[in-house]
Amino acid sequence: MINYNVDENGFYGKFGGAYIPEMLYPNVEELRQNYLKIMAEPEFQEELQTLLKDYVGRPTPLYFAKRLSEKYNTNIYLKREDLNHTGAHKINNTVGQVLMAKRLGKKRIIAETGAGQHGVATATVCALMGLECIVYMGEVDIQRQAPNVARMKMLGATVVPATSGSKTLKDATNEAIRDWINNPEDTYYIIGSVVGPHPYPDMVARFQSVISEEIKVQLKEKTGSENPDYVVACVGGGSNAAGAFYHYLDTPEVKLVAVEAAGLGVGSGESAATSVLGREGIIHGSRTLLMQTDDGQVTEPYSISAGLDYPGVGPLHAHLHQSGRAIFESITDDEALQAVLELTRLEGIIPALESAHALAALGRIGAKPDEVIVVNLSGRGDKDLTTYLDRFELHGK
Ligand SMILES: *Cc1c(COP(=O)(O)O)cnc(C)c1O
Repeated sequence: MINYNVDENGFYGKFGGAYIPEMLYPNVEELRQNYLKIMAEPEFQEELQTLLKDYVGRPTPLYFAKRLSEKYNTNIYLKREDLNHTGAHKINNTVGQVLMAKRLGKKRIIAETGAGQHGVATATVCALMGLECIVYMGEVDIQRQAPNVARMKMLGATVVPATSGSKTLKDATNEAIRDWINNPEDTYYIIGSVVGPHPYPDMVARFQSVISEEIKVQLKEKTGSENPDYVVACVGGGSNAAGAFYHYLDTPEVKLVAVEAAGLGVGSGESAATSVLGREGIIHGSRTLLMQTDDGQVTEPYSISAGLDYPGVGPLHAHLHQSGRAIFESITDDEALQAVLELTRLEGIIPALESAHALAALGRIGAKPDEVIVVNLSGRGDKDLTTYLDRFELHGK
């Protein structure tokens, strides 16, 4: 049987590991030696569970979407991560990692962010814990995502523009890594997805695994079985998908559907569909699938959704792709937008653009009338409203 969990060296099959400069070794090694021990401490678990319940608002509902189910002639449940504090799944991870940072005695928190959702989730938990917070963000993204920049500033974080390269997420990540190298003693780096050097992908997947832990209990209550036929989630770096898949990885009857952003189309040169366009390479400390040129330079990704606009995927997802355990789909900007309108008008729920990619895959699955699909609704659409008003021509109506 294939192992879908990380091995002791941080590999999922041949993907993962910790390809880091020597200067980072002490930091990453300190975390690697301690993260499982700390996560197993009863006091850590008690503090984490209390925060997840009373601060984040967990468990999030598992909602039977009746009208959407009728439309696709099957049974569709939405896991409502959009109802978490700050509006997405990202806070499951930042709550966990800020507690980890405190246990390791760190006083200063750094993070990278693309759309600003991870930056907001990090700034939120730093305010909660009274910790200094520095968020690196590409100069272009700072312009594109002004409301989230305002939220971070309101929360007391310092937002530092990344001005190199394309001035987007991967450049912000490079800047955060540089900061960490220069401040090895007192600084903890909160990574926002299942990417980066071991142990980050495994640690983030464990913090997000609460999603599938809850799905199992909730689905059992509603249908009598804890196993759906399909679990569907969008993949940027892959953290919400990792959380939704986690407790089903070793249950082959449950089909896992990972949905990437095709942008303007996988063959258009403007895409972020890593599983189709990527080849093996190393990015941000991990061996994984990566969009790159023939001589190994990282290709600029594109998606209408800033949260899916990343040229790699986490090593777990590279392994799920290569082993065939997960089905990979890619959805264009236009298909995602159509899914936004469909969910909004059928169910009265405005999804994030990222989550709409997962919803758009419903039409590809071909589920039978008696089958059950769980879609992980990773976030709410407030941050995308300007895009929606523009694209749906709703201004002035
Ligand atoms: C950041 C984000 C994503 C993509 O990140 P993953 O690590 O792939 O989950 C998806 N949905 C929302 C709402 C996000 O904010």
